[in-house]
This record gives sequence, C-alpha cells and structure tokens, in this order.
Amino acid sequence: MSGIVVVGGGFAGVWSAAGAVRLARAAGRELSVTVISSGDDLVIRPRLYQAGPDRMRVSLDRILGPIGVRRVAATATGIDTVGRRVTVVGRDGRSGEIDYDRLILSTGSQLVRPALPGAELLYDVDTLPAAAALDAHLDRLPDLPPSEGRFAAVVVGAGFTGLEIATELADRLGALAARAGERAEVVLVERADTIGPELGPGPRPEILDALSAAGIRQRLGVRLAAVEPGGVTLSDGTRIPAHTAIWTAGVRASSLTADIPADRDELGRLDVDAQLRVAGVPQVYAAGDTAAAEAEPGHRVLQCCQHALQLGKFAGHNAAADLLGLPPAPFTATPYVTCLDLGSAGAVFTNGWDRRVVSTGDTAKARKRNVNELWIYPPTDDPGELLRQADYRFSVREITAPGA
Ligand SMILES: Cc1cc2nc3c(=O)[nH]c(=O)nc-3n(C[C@H](O)[C@H](O)[C@H](O)COP(=O)(O)OP(=O)(O)OC[C@H]3O[C@@H](n4cnc5c(N)ncnc54)[C@H](O)[C@@H]3O)c2cc1C
Repeated sequence: MSGIVVVGGGFAGVWSAAGAVRLARAAGRELSVTVISSGDDLVIRPRLYQAGPDRMRVSLDRILGPIGVRRVAATATGIDTVGRRVTVVGRDGRSGEIDYDRLILSTGSQLVRPALPGAELLYDVDTLPAAAALDAHLDRLPDLPPSEGRFAAVVVGAGFTGLEIATELADRLGALAARAGERAEVVLVERADTIGPELGPGPRPEILDALSAAGIRQRLGVRLAAVEPGGVTLSDGTRIPAHTAIWTAGVRASSLTADIPADRDELGRLDVDAQLRVAGVPQVYAAGDTAAAEAEPGHRVLQCCQHALQLGKFAGHNAAADLLGLPPAPFTATPYVTCLDLGSAGAVFTNGWDRRVVSTGDTAKARKRNVNELWIYPPTDDPGELLRQADYRFSVREITAPGA
C-alpha cells in the first residue's frame, strides 16, 4: 500500500502527518505515512523577522521519526493526479517518483518578489536563507565605511510582516547606530494610503503609536520604483539613502497547486471541501497556505500559523479516515486571533475577523512570546505528546512552558 504522502514539511505538513498517524494508532490500524520535504527542518517562519533566524527551526526527524513517519529529503517537482504519483528530485540531483493513495499538499506559500530595477538587491524574511542573509548583512553594517544611509532601512509593505520587521529593525539598527555615534532611520513604504490596510482599523491606533514611538517614518500611497546600492527610489521620484531595503509585500501559494486540476483563489490556493479534499480531486487534500478552506461562514482561512496547524491536523485525520474507512471530521477553525509584534512598544493582540484589540504593550508581548516560543513548536523526541497534540480537538492553551 502506498498510503498517505504529505508534500511539505512546514506546520501544515508536520501536523498532517501526525494527525494521520494519531488516527491510525487510535483505531489500532497500520498506515504508511511519508513526508516529502526539501529541507531537513521545520522552519519557524513567523520568527524570521527576529535576530538570529538560523535558530528558528526544528529537526523534522526529531518530530516525525519517533512516530514512524518516513521522510524523503527531496523537492517535489510535479504531481500526476491521474497516475497518483509525485515526481521528486533528490539532493543528489536524481529524479524519482513516489506513489500515493491519498496526497496532502502542504507546500506553503512564497513571497512574490517584484520585477523592478535592482530587485536583486532587496532583502526579505520569507525563508530561512533569506532571513539569514539579512541578519548577516545587518551584523556587517558597523564594518562599512561611514556613509549616508548606513544605518537606514526601507521596508516595503506595511502589512503584518512589514510592521514586525520595521519595528524590530528600529530597535536593532538604533542600537548599532548608537554604538557608532550615528542615527538610525527606518522608513515604511506602503502603496495604500493607510498603514496595515489588511489589518483593518481595529489595531491601527496602537500600530501608529508604536511607529511614532520608534521614530519610523511612513511613506504612504507610493510604490518602490528602483533599488540601487545604498538607496532606493520611490514612484514619486523621492530617493531614500538606505543600505538595507526589505520587500515584504505579496505572498502566493506554492506553485505546485497548479498541478492539481481544480479551482484556485486569487492567492493561488486550492478550493477544498469541508473535509479539506480538493474540489473534484477527492484523493488530494490541501492544508496550510495552499488551502482556501472556509473557516466559518463568510470567512476563508488566512495564510497564517493558527490556521496551518489546524488545517494540517484535520487534513491528516481525514485522509487517514478515508483510507481506513473511518468517519471524517469536518474542518472547524478556532476563533481567529492575531498577535502583532511591535518591537519595544510591545505587541497588539486582537480577537475576531474585525481584529478587536484585546491587549497591548507588555501583556500582548507576553502572549506573542508564548505564540512564538511555545505554542507553534511541535514537541520533539516525544511521540506520546506529539500524538496527543495532533488531535484536531487539542487546544494550544493546554501547552505550558516546561516547569510552569
Ligand atoms: C516573516 C513571517 C512572519 C510571519 N508571522 C506570522 C505570525 O505572526 N502569525 C501567523 O499566524 N503566521 C505568520 N506567518 C505565516 C506563517 O508562517 C505561514 O502561514 C505558515 O508557515 C504556513 O504553514 P505551511 O505549513 O502552510 O507552509 P510553510 O510553513 O511555508 O511550509 C511549507 C514547507 O513546504 C516545503 N516545500 C515547499 N515546496 C516544496 C516542494 N516543491 N517540495 C518539497 N517541499 C516543499 C517548504 O520547504 C516548507 O518546509 C509569517 C510568515 C513569515 C514569512
């Protein structure tokens, strides 16, 4: 039996595999589960805006090995939904094929980089290598000869990621510049005429206060036009001297979604039914940033960790239930919340799709630390705990810090 093949070793992929194993074990049945992942680690993407991104990862073998999930270290390059097989390219460059009975596509999303002059000079924090390159660049700034814009950064996109990296940079560049007897500057560039256009008006006052306290300059209603060594030019012709330019605007679901013959939304995500099966292709499930699932009437899931974890557990459960002849569990999302890091101003924690502010400052920052350092990390070397948490009914609130 080919069993379940999960493509992608991110949050959704890990929890899909664990969710499938959990159900099979609970039913006392045998089930083969394979994860195909191009990297060896679960990358903690939500922390890539922080210093030291190389630490933001967990060995997949320490998560999946103890529950008997087979891992294939390869990149999936194609999916044949008629022949039910995935084409992969291994690290040695050799191609191969892996058959499946049920497939869970959880290859996540990627930042869409712009096509503009000098785009290759832009940094980003979308992947671990990209975040590590930015981190190393920031560390090297004090070694550069003094020049205008040495400790200045332009962050393009004032959405969730742009705000987190901008407020983090205000602190980090501020400390580097102070040691050199210079001043740092962070400029947030947003093509809309408001900060956090997709975050809505709820948390905006807290965000604006934090930007103001950190001295972050806003340039609204303009686009990035070009990047040159040592500076950027905006669509209104303004030139900003800055040795660091970071692109955060626009994310799209993995291009592998195009191999599945089904409808996709404007983010490239696959339409799925309540069991997370891709519409019209019942042997294929989608989870995480590849899935346009309904979270509750009128609201689709967002490309976020909260939903990726839950989607994974349901997709794994349902793919296993389908193969084993057990009842499926229709996807239900926990109430939507967000927690936005605002650097030394703390954080803002919101509840609901309209993002009503629940807490701010240090209280929200403590919650952000729980999210970032505890709740989104799967247990390692502990099969019992991993499978306990792999139940789609499990709540992260049950996770407490060691010794707490
Ligand atoms: C800087 C940043 C900050 C964020 N902050 C937050 C936050 O505060 N809160 C929040 O909820 N969300 C946040 N997110 C979003 C969150 O990280 C994603 O929604 C989440 O990672 C999605 O999980 P996933 O498993 O679908 O995809 P991913 O975590 O991206 O995992 C996909 C995996 O698939 C692998 N893969 C991709 N293509 C292939 C292939 N062809 N073959 C084999 N393997 C492949 C990748 O290597 C990766 O391991 C942030 C993201 C970024 C980049």
